[in-house]
Amino acid sequence: MRILLVEDDRMIGDAILIALKDAAYAVDWVMDGETAKNVLKDKDHQGLLLDLGLPKQDGLEVLRYLRSQGNDLPVIIITARDAVEDRIKGLDLGADDYLVKPFDMNELLARLRAVVRRKGGQSSPLLTNGKISLNPSTREASRGEDSYLLSSREFSLLHALMLQPGSILTRTELEERIYGWNEEVESNAVDFLIHGIRKKLGADAIKNIRGAGWMVDKS
Ligand code: CA
Repeated sequence: MRILLVEDDRMIGDAILIALKDAAYAVDWVMDGETAKNVLKDKDHQGLLLDLGLPKQDGLEVLRYLRSQGNDLPVIIITARDAVEDRIKGLDLGADDYLVKPFDMNELLARLRAVVRRKGGQSSPLLTNGKISLNPSTREASRGEDSYLLSSREFSLLHALMLQPGSILTRTELEERIYGWNEEVESNAVDFLIHGIRKKLGADAIKNIRGAGWMVDKS
């Protein structure tokens, strides 16, 4: 899952970046509202962490723009304690949740999982298609009685597929979910990761649709 982080404070941004990467997210980071708006046009991200006090255009302006485009990307506002009115405005403009700085990174990760889950129409924290299950909070995949801990990138790839069982994702779409801007994508990375996941969960856990991409079965 790829997240866009919009934060102009380097220290806070660095801390969030590290926490998200440790939790197997791909992260792109921009530091002003105008750049954020431009990046959001490409719809490459599955979640947005949005500071409100930003150079050029503020976070509320970014949010207003996003929702005016009909984009329902999960959004969490991250903002200072004294900005109560802005947080209220943010929620009214379509933010899904907010966190007050300074916050605990584990809480940020839990809230991110929750908003992504709700947007996907799921209330259970476990993603399942009847055959395999994936727990985003532990990064464990299971099949029958057996559970397996996935590597961060194996998790990212399987998570992308499990969010949309029955939908085919192309190689490019999978790469975009797993890697941020600054990360080099090796040409056979997707095949390598799928091989690793199949070794753990069985060859039929992920289906290859020849010439199109990959999918997990819909239950
Ligand atoms: Ca700021």
